Amino acid sequence: MSASSVVTRFAPSPTGFLHIGGARTALFNLLFARHHGGKFRLRIEDTDKARSTQAAIDAILDGMSWLDLNWDDEVVYQSQRAARHVEVAEALLANGHAYRCYATPEELAELREQQRAARQPLRYDGRWRDREGGPEQEGKPFAVRLRAQTEGETAIDDLVQGRVIVQNSELDDMILLRSDGTPTYMLAVVVDDHDMGVTHVIRGDDHLNNAFRQLGIIKAMGWPEPAYAHIPLIHGSDGAKLSKRHGALGVDAYRDELGMLPEAVNNYLLRLGWGHGDDEIISREQAVEWFDIGGVGRSPSRFDLKKLENLNGHYLREAADDRLAELVAPRVERLIGHAPDRALLARAMPELKPRAKTLDEIADGALFLFAERPLALDDKAAALLDARAQALLGQTRDALAAISEWSGEAIEAAVRQVAESAGIGLGKVAQPLRAALTGRTTSPGIFDVLVLLGREESLVRLGDQSGQAKNVHAHAIEEQ
Ligand code: GLU
Repeated sequence: MSASSVVTRFAPSPTGFLHIGGARTALFNLLFARHHGGKFRLRIEDTDKARSTQAAIDAILDGMSWLDLNWDDEVVYQSQRAARHVEVAEALLANGHAYRCYATPEELAELREQQRAARQPLRYDGRWRDREGGPEQEGKPFAVRLRAQTEGETAIDDLVQGRVIVQNSELDDMILLRSDGTPTYMLAVVVDDHDMGVTHVIRGDDHLNNAFRQLGIIKAMGWPEPAYAHIPLIHGSDGAKLSKRHGALGVDAYRDELGMLPEAVNNYLLRLGWGHGDDEIISREQAVEWFDIGGVGRSPSRFDLKKLENLNGHYLREAADDRLAELVAPRVERLIGHAPDRALLARAMPELKPRAKTLDEIADGALFLFAERPLALDDKAAALLDARAQALLGQTRDALAAISEWSGEAIEAAVRQVAESAGIGLGKVAQPLRAALTGRTTSPGIFDVLVLLGREESLVRLGDQSGQAKNVHAHAIEEQ
């Protein structure tokens, strides 16, 4: 690895789904790495065995592949690296930057109690910092603590937050290895970032305070310091911290429940806190070319589901019809109880997709194609079909039955002819037609509807509603 090559990483703790904020962090890491021709790596921080689950790991990997957030090299699992973390703690003991602390949990609880009573900040008082264990500590459990700098200050030139300074006196001697020998999160992060060659740590600004502690370990080991970029968290549209109510769902919910396309979610997340002039629609390729971490704003961005839906509408219109048919088919199937004709769905897509913002809206718009006869009419559609409209439907049906070729042009000519001879506008014919053919008062253009349904289906649906079917039915009863 050359000294200049950029390595970023996304380091989720698998205690829940891949949420939208995590996905944005991953995206920024990926774009930064790709922009600089470097690597984007993935580390699963699964050291909290009680809270990390395989299901959560799978959800993260799945969400990342769906969003095309492809990482380089193999996934690093933090839990598998405990021996290496211990090794570094021992190296720090050996070089004098760490020490053994034999304080018992009771003693530390007492210390905290005293500090609380005196309204002092709660922090370790360094009671073992300048003291070696004697014979009475033999065989007793100990924690390994960092011998932190007590004087001066630590500055971070954060690529997003600017220069941030902390007085070293504010940082106590944190634990690196617990008395049961397990490494702490602070140690694990630093060791893993170093071993993975991470040059740029891009993560949520809730980790900014940790960076100062982590730097203490990095300096004690004499390792190169990474650059930091702490990005503001995402807030809800009302400015409050993002919660489920605001759309803080797992990315799987954006796919499955909300029916979003991955390119729309990516585009939305990119624009959440970063911008390129007034550009709204930004492809992955452009994002890689344009992304600069300095362009990320310092204030929290507000999540806006409406904007995401609008972007999704844009990407639906751009998407290939076959792909959309494949994505929409299972949604239609859930609504109608059987697998729909995919070829028909794909043929209808040019008319369906401009009218929708989500895959579910496309599925809903496609229902008329697969509706069972006689169609169930919604209230508005039923109200349209009075006696006059029924008569008109009968005439239209006859006119359509007579055309030789079932093409858009021939259909349109026939329907216009009906309107003309009835002395009414085209809309007056189109409305009842739509109601009879789709059961609704909104649908794709009426000629497209007729073409998609085909001659036979169109004619029987019109027959159903034109009074003719009822007559046929009446005859059938009479004949019995
Ligand atoms: N595992 C941490 C989290 O999920 C991130 C740690 C880091 O990026 O340094 O919040």
